[in-house]
Amino acid sequence: MKLRMVTAAAAAALALSLTTACGSDGDGSSSGSDGGDKKITVGIKFDQPGLGLKTPDGKYTGFDVDVATYVAKQLGYKPADIEWKEAKSADRETLLQRGDVDFIAATYSINDERAKKVDFAGPYFLAHQDIMVRSDDNSITKPADLNNKKLCSVTGSTSAQNVKTKLAPKAQLQEYGGYSECLTGLENKVIDALTTDNVILAGYAAQPEHQGKFKLGGFKLSNENYGIGVQKGSELKAKINTALQKMVADGAWEAAVKKNFGPDFKGEPAPKVGVIVS
Ligand code: GLU
Repeated sequence: MKLRMVTAAAAAALALSLTTACGSDGDGSSSGSDGGDKKITVGIKFDQPGLGLKTPDGKYTGFDVDVATYVAKQLGYKPADIEWKEAKSADRETLLQRGDVDFIAATYSINDERAKKVDFAGPYFLAHQDIMVRSDDNSITKPADLNNKKLCSVTGSTSAQNVKTKLAPKAQLQEYGGYSECLTGLENKVIDALTTDNVILAGYAAQPEHQGKFKLGGFKLSNENYGIGVQKGSELKAKINTALQKMVADGAWEAAVKKNFGPDFKGEPAPKVGVIVS
């Protein structure tokens, strides 16, 4: 009798999961406060240790992953209900506009240009653009030294944009698809410096296989207010803002910072939702 009941329940669950299999249905409405068997699709980076990383055994780790997991829980989704999707810098607006993801937590700076296409909850983290060079390179001591250097950043990032418009317009900017590709170039001496947010660079420098190879400039070249991207007009924005406020208030934000960036991390305090540092 007991077996039959379990079987019936399993059949019901299967039927439900079949009807909701296409969780992300293009209008960003796959979320639901009841959770249940529904899935939520979340865009993250796959190649940024400490922030968003897909490990060789298929797990997802990093601060953005932890923030997204917390937010999803507040929206009614268990970790097992989350489908992670790679959101490269240049693809983020399109992924949201097409409804391929429900929200994006991928070192995604809030700015006016992006805000024309998508909405942002947050901010939930404040980073600053910096540069990273090989440890034995002493030729770049100030941002202007980047002019005429081979500098790598990523297509569609604020980092690349800032180089072109203000930081080092005469640098030979190489725009790659992801920062891990820049890192390989830096290691192989194909490029001289990699520029993006300090936490991303610190994550690469701290990897065991990179110990001692790279150093950060320590320049605060910009303010990067990380937001959670949602579709324009999505009701998720308000819910995510509430979740982020709760994450800070209950200590989970601080715990995620320490877990992912190390106990000695000297970063900025948690930003206030709705307050952008310009
Ligand atoms: N936070 C910056 C941006 O949103 C740089 C990091 C990234 O490309 O994700 O463009």
